[in-house]
Amino acid sequence: MSRVYNFSAGPSAFPEEVLKQVRDELLEWRDSGMSVMEMSHRGKFFSIIAEELEQDLRALMAIPENYKVLFLQGGATAQFSMIPQNILQGKTKACYVNTGAWSEKAIKDAGNYCEVVLSANSEASKFTTIPDVAGWAIDQDAAYLHYTSNETIHGVEFQSIPDSKGLTLVSDMSSNILSRPVDVSQFGIIYAGTQKNMGPAGVTVVIVRDDLIGHAPKTTPEVFNYAVQAKNGSMLNTPATYNWYLVGLVLKWLKAQGGVAAIEQRNIAKSALLYDLVDKSSLYSNPVDVPYRSRMNVPFILKDQALDKPFLAAAEANGLFELKGHRSVGGMRASIYNAMPEAGVKALCEFMAEFERTH
Ligand code: PMP
Repeated sequence: MSRVYNFSAGPSAFPEEVLKQVRDELLEWRDSGMSVMEMSHRGKFFSIIAEELEQDLRALMAIPENYKVLFLQGGATAQFSMIPQNILQGKTKACYVNTGAWSEKAIKDAGNYCEVVLSANSEASKFTTIPDVAGWAIDQDAAYLHYTSNETIHGVEFQSIPDSKGLTLVSDMSSNILSRPVDVSQFGIIYAGTQKNMGPAGVTVVIVRDDLIGHAPKTTPEVFNYAVQAKNGSMLNTPATYNWYLVGLVLKWLKAQGGVAAIEQRNIAKSALLYDLVDKSSLYSNPVDVPYRSRMNVPFILKDQALDKPFLAAAEANGLFELKGHRSVGGMRASIYNAMPEAGVKALCEFMAEFERTH
């Protein structure tokens, strides 16, 4: 067996220890006599898994009591429309900040339900910065303010929580949840797909403040209604049981690493290695404003596009996979989520330095 370093943006690298545990527990979970895959979602064994999953996430993020934690399907993409469907509360407008491709998708869906007020937009910079929060146009008649805390494609990340001037704050944290501590109490809703920092694809975590639940119009489909899902413990219908279990294992792994504050220090160190190399190089460059560079997704371009293919081929030959940038921006992207070990980033840096020496 020769496992490679996988820099995919999601689904993405898993902690190897967790994969080994999954292998060991495949046929029988604890003393249940069965695989997690075979368990009834309402049975006594799966109930333990579900309970531990929620408790571990609550502990890792210090989620206050007055928030529900939902584990839903449909990806973060489903939340783009579930949010306006659930929390407009009779209002006709919502504020959105556009900092990249994922913000744009959220904005497009929200437009089907309400008037979108564009509070800030970095499109003119080709999404290489975040507009100064002091200048954001925040409409006090809007139901909420939505932003994307980390733009997975453009590699732009908020380094602090923006001031929503009293509006309910909603954040898509798909690609940086659990990579750094956040004060959950500042948010109305935090949501994220699991396929980057929490496990495999197939589960969407939605952390929602109690007072925002119960306002969806009657026409909202039951599965898309936070109140119905909360009342049913996210089991209105059959949940993605095996994926819940896998997310649970990744959360236990994260706890064993020292939790979110400890992993943040490693994420700072890992991303600094890559950005230092890129900044000192005359072959590679990163276009993002330094204060907003993402610790999770590091995009970079090569001076000569003709080198892209040889770069990717040589990287694979060195066991470094999935470095191709998103098709919409081109170039390269190294996604270095929690599960990417420092050794993987060091191996990438050594390869990049060697490639520069020889090209
Ligand atoms: N938001 C962000 C920031 C993302 O990175 C992604 C997926 N890459 C999505 C939303 C969409 O997630 P999903 O494919 O799970 O719907």
